Amino acid sequence: MRLDEMADVIVVGAGPGGSATAHYLAQTGLTVIVLEKGTFPRDKICGDGLTPRAVAEIIRMGINTDGWIRNYSLVAHGGGHRIEVPWPELNSMPSYGMARARGQFDHDLAKRAVESGADLREGMTVTGPIIHERSGRVIGVEARPKGADRKAPPLRFLAPVVVDAGGVSARLATSVGREKIVNRPMGVATRTYFRSPRADEPIMESHLELWDGEPGRSNLMPGYGWVFPLGEGLVNVGLGSLSSTAKPTGIDYRRLFDTWMSNVPEEWGFTPENQVGQVRGAALPMAFNRGPHYGNGLLLVGDAGGMVSPFNGEGIAYAMQSGRLAADFIAQALARRTLGQQDRVLRQYQEELRSELGGYYTLGRIFASLIEKPEIMHLCVHYGLPRPTLMRLVMKLLSDGYDRRDGDWMDRLITALTKAVPSA
Ligand SMILES: Cc1cc2nc3c(=O)[nH]c(=O)nc-3n(C[C@H](O)[C@H](O)[C@H](O)COP(=O)(O)OP(=O)(O)OC[C@H]3O[C@@H](n4cnc5c(N)ncnc54)[C@H](O)[C@@H]3O)c2cc1C
Repeated sequence: MRLDEMADVIVVGAGPGGSATAHYLAQTGLTVIVLEKGTFPRDKICGDGLTPRAVAEIIRMGINTDGWIRNYSLVAHGGGHRIEVPWPELNSMPSYGMARARGQFDHDLAKRAVESGADLREGMTVTGPIIHERSGRVIGVEARPKGADRKAPPLRFLAPVVVDAGGVSARLATSVGREKIVNRPMGVATRTYFRSPRADEPIMESHLELWDGEPGRSNLMPGYGWVFPLGEGLVNVGLGSLSSTAKPTGIDYRRLFDTWMSNVPEEWGFTPENQVGQVRGAALPMAFNRGPHYGNGLLLVGDAGGMVSPFNGEGIAYAMQSGRLAADFIAQALARRTLGQQDRVLRQYQEELRSELGGYYTLGRIFASLIEKPEIMHLCVHYGLPRPTLMRLVMKLLSDGYDRRDGDWMDRLITALTKAVPSA
């Protein structure tokens, strides 16, 4: 019979959220087992875009980014306009973004967690929680190694604290009753790769109008398209749409993607011959659409806790940030003696998330309910894009690129707005 394995913390999933959590925990000397169903390098459906906010988290983790492509501005297209806005100069993050294919990016982060001392088990699918009978607390997980006999008993991993960083499916959280909150925005996005002569351009490009036929003569669809050059001859191209609730939008994304591709300028080289891999899509859980983020020994990090921004579909920075915060509160909690004391500390994780991101996400929910109506999006693009100062403000807001302290008037305005609305 196999013995149960034990650690101070079990982390489910080694995406950006799980690897950041494991890295920071291991650095405090705690024992951390990370269970990841995939085997690195593995693909993840994503735009591969890293805003300055994400780059700040990458720098904090001490990831070596030599050779990664950098971008210095965002180019927006819409209403016949093209406007280029440089990333803002800020105290809290660098003035450049990056882009890196998730196959490599996630592998880099997982390797960093292992270097720090985390015990990463790849090819290990977590199938359910182990719950303490009397207290109802999550005290571990059951997992099945890749290729294992289905009839064999699952492996058991025990720990006083468990983290679900398993992404949008949040299997563990769901299995203990933390269902998604349906009145929170949900995104759906699809992407593919193309070989392109413009793969080294130091920009991120977004297309703010998606037409379901000929531009200007067909229907405007809610959402936006992106082109993120990755270097090495490749660009990531995708489109996403947003709904202010979890209701399906009914949009045929593949068709919309093909239509958009037939409308983009030829110089990008987005032809069927240049396409690398299929168009693949996935959901983006936004604005804390699952919670609580701590309860009964289980914390939620990243997509598992619905932390994608409704403003732009970005989730990597928030997965890494929440992993860093979770690790900090877990380390403090495990230094306390009683479960009651530990719980009080761990509940602070949720409070911290709310105070850092809650107001911003609430603004994002208002934004989502406005721009899901294409006519409003069209008006904003038509009249907003040609106004550079307004666009600098909009870019700061949409990319969460503002200083919370000591910023300029735009930063202070956004901070004031996030404080004027409820924090969740
Ligand atoms: C099309 C698309 C484009 C996007 N573009 C961007 C972008 O450009 N920039 C950006 O910042 N964000 C983008 N996002 C969002 C971003 O991908 C996510 O927010 C981010 O990956 C969240 O990180 P995470 O660690 O929480 O979850 P994930 O990255 O999903 O990682 C979860 C990990 O858990 C593992 N796992 C899941 N279940 C189990 C289980 N039962 N047992 C063991 N392991 C398990 C998975 O294999 C995976 O490795 C995009 C999303 C989509 C769908």
